[in-house]
Amino acid sequence: MVTMFGRAKINLTLDILGQRADGYHEIATVMQSLALADTVTFTRQAEGIALTVDLPGLETDERNLAWRAAALVIERCGVRGGVRIDIVKRIPVAAGLAGGSADAAAALRGMNALYGLGLTDEELCTLGAELGSDIPFSLVGGTVFATGRGELMERLADFPEIHVVLAKPPVSVSTPWAYRAYDAQPAQKHPDNPSFLAALAAGDAAACMRLAGNVLEPVTEGAHPVIADYRARMRACGADCAMMSGSGPTVFGLFATEERAARAAEEFRRETEAAVHLTRTAGRYEAAV
Ligand code: ATP
Repeated sequence: MVTMFGRAKINLTLDILGQRADGYHEIATVMQSLALADTVTFTRQAEGIALTVDLPGLETDERNLAWRAAALVIERCGVRGGVRIDIVKRIPVAAGLAGGSADAAAALRGMNALYGLGLTDEELCTLGAELGSDIPFSLVGGTVFATGRGELMERLADFPEIHVVLAKPPVSVSTPWAYRAYDAQPAQKHPDNPSFLAALAAGDAAACMRLAGNVLEPVTEGAHPVIADYRARMRACGADCAMMSGSGPTVFGLFATEERAARAAEEFRRETEAAVHLTRTAGRYEAAV
């Protein structure tokens, strides 16, 4: 039996550079992994894939990204045998936190370990990119600058460890919808990725937080004003930076002290309908649990 973490991510910057001939968008984003993680356990079985999730309503068949990742490894590596996958879901679903990609990355690593396949990180990333643009990042973690459709990665110095409050309002946002809405009304204001990368290299977290930005934020916020309310509340709670992650709707706040972050989390729990998590930034992925 093998157990892996699948960590959530936030986007510290997210810019869209244009649409590609293949229909994907060309993006440039600084992604950061969080300590908040699903736990995914893998057990050998004679054949086939069986999957359980402790969250009612989430797919447990080939529509689950972890299922698809395991199937891909079995097919490509000629694995003789199957796997039982049990997911303990902590990352909010359809939230802009790449929870599905996190589980798929855990499944790629899990199958590699369970069957002793000896696949390198690079080979795992190539397999992952076939299933989803965020999966290569989910495999490596830490702080990464991703371009292309998100699969071309440049590892960066780790963002300083900082406390993070996540607040997901009770609204659903589909990622394809957000990109379509963006195309109809592209951003006037883009985050300055080169300056962000320079600030990060200089270890200037305050400058990074000033330079953080997400072009999808106005798009999703236009449809769900609650996101703007949460950002304002997060800042009023003392966040050094408050932004929407990915295509939303989750708002994250970055806090210098755990005490302030805990107070903010408490206020969100008490006064809003948000699903709230108190976590922190996490460095590069380090093998199994
Ligand atoms: P991203 O930020 O990568 O766009 P997200 O955080 O917005 O992703 P996910 O939590 O990955 O969204 O889920 C999007 C959809 O994917 C879900 O509504 C669900 O139907 C499907 N899905 C498939 N496998 C999983 C999984 N293991 N965990 C969560 N959702 C999954």
